[in-house]
Amino acid sequence: MSRIHRLPDHLVNQIAAGEVVERPASALKELLENSLDADASRITVDLGQGGIQLIRVNDDGNGISQDDLSLALHRHATSKISSLDDLEQVSTLGFRGEGLASIASVSRMTLVSRTADSEHAWSVSALDGTLEAPEPAAHAPGTTVEVADIYFNTPARRKFLKSESTEFAHCATVFERVALAYPHVEFLLRHNGRVVNRLPSESLADRVGRLLGKDFVAAALDIDEAAGPLAIAGFAASPSLSKAGRDAQYCFVNGRFVRDKLLAHAVRQAYRDVLHHERQPCYALFLRVPPEAVDVNVHPTKVEVRFRESQAVHQFVFHAVNRRLATTRTREAGQADT
Ligand code: ADP
Ligand code: MG
Repeated sequence: MSRIHRLPDHLVNQIAAGEVVERPASALKELLENSLDADASRITVDLGQGGIQLIRVNDDGNGISQDDLSLALHRHATSKISSLDDLEQVSTLGFRGEGLASIASVSRMTLVSRTADSEHAWSVSALDGTLEAPEPAAHAPGTTVEVADIYFNTPARRKFLKSESTEFAHCATVFERVALAYPHVEFLLRHNGRVVNRLPSESLADRVGRLLGKDFVAAALDIDEAAGPLAIAGFAASPSLSKAGRDAQYCFVNGRFVRDKLLAHAVRQAYRDVLHHERQPCYALFLRVPPEAVDVNVHPTKVEVRFRESQAVHQFVFHAVNRRLATTRTREAGQADT
C-alpha cells in the first residue's frame, strides 16, 4: 500500500509561504521588489492595521499583459529568468517566481495591471487556491496588488502575528530599506489612510538624510569609489562625531538590503583604529558588483548573499572606508597643527 502522495499545489504554496512570507512586512517586501523590477518610478503603499488587514502596492511600472496575468500568480512562473545562465547573472530583485503565488495562497489577493500598449487594465483575484478568470478593469498603466486578510486561512500562522503597531513597524522598516536603495523612485506610504512617509525622487544624499537623519548625512563621510568591476557609494559616520544620528548600519548589494558578516567586518576593521571598540560605526553603504560575482540565491528572503570572491570584496570595502577615514584624520591633524 502506497503511503506517499503528492501534495496539492495550494498546500505546496502555503508551505513555501511559511518561508517567504514570514509576516506582513515580508509580503510588502516582495511586492515592492516586483514594482522596482518593473521599473516603476512611483510606488504607493497602503497598509491597513499594520498590513494585517491590507497591503496594497500600486506602481507605474511596465505592467503585466492579459495573457500573463493568471500565470503571474502561479508558482515558479517568472518573466525574469529562463535558464541557469540567467540565474547566475540575475540582476533583478526577484527571480524565483514564488512571491505572488506564496502570498496569494495565504491571503485574498487581487492583481490589477495594465501595460502601456493596452487600452484598459485586467484584474484577477485568487482565493484559497482558485483563480478567477481575468476581468477588464480601470487602471492607469502599471500594477496594483492588493493583499487582504493575510493568514486568514492559516490559523497557526495568524497566531504568530504581533500587534498592529509591531507589524506596522516591521513594514515601515522594509519600506525604508527599499526606499534607501532607490532614491530616484518616488514613494508614498500610508497607514490606516494617513500619510506616514512621502518621498520625492531625489539624490542619494537627500534620501539618506530624509530617512536616517540630516545630521547624520551632514556629518558623515561620503564614500564614492570604484575599482575595476566593484563600486561603493554611501555615507559612513565620522568617528569624531559623538552622536552619530540614529544608530544604524545598512549594507546594500546591487540595490538589495543584505545582512552580511563579511561586509560588516570589513567596515568594522576600517574603523578599528579610530573608534573605541565598544562603539559601533553608523553607515549606509551601497555596493555594486557584477551580478555574476554574487550569489543571491542562498536565502529564502535573499537577505543573505554569497560573494564568489569574498576576499576581494572585503579588501575593496575595507580600503574604501579606511582611506576615507584616513583623509579626515590627516585633515583634523592638519587643523590641529595650525
Ligand atoms: P518573481 O518576482 O520572482 O518573478 P513573483 O511571483 O513575485 O515572482 O512575480 C511573478 C511575475 O509577475 C514576475 O516575474 C513579473 O513578470 C510579474 N509581476 C509581478 N509584480 C509585478 C509588477 N508590480 N509589475 C509588473 N509585473 C509584475
Ligand atoms: Mg517577485
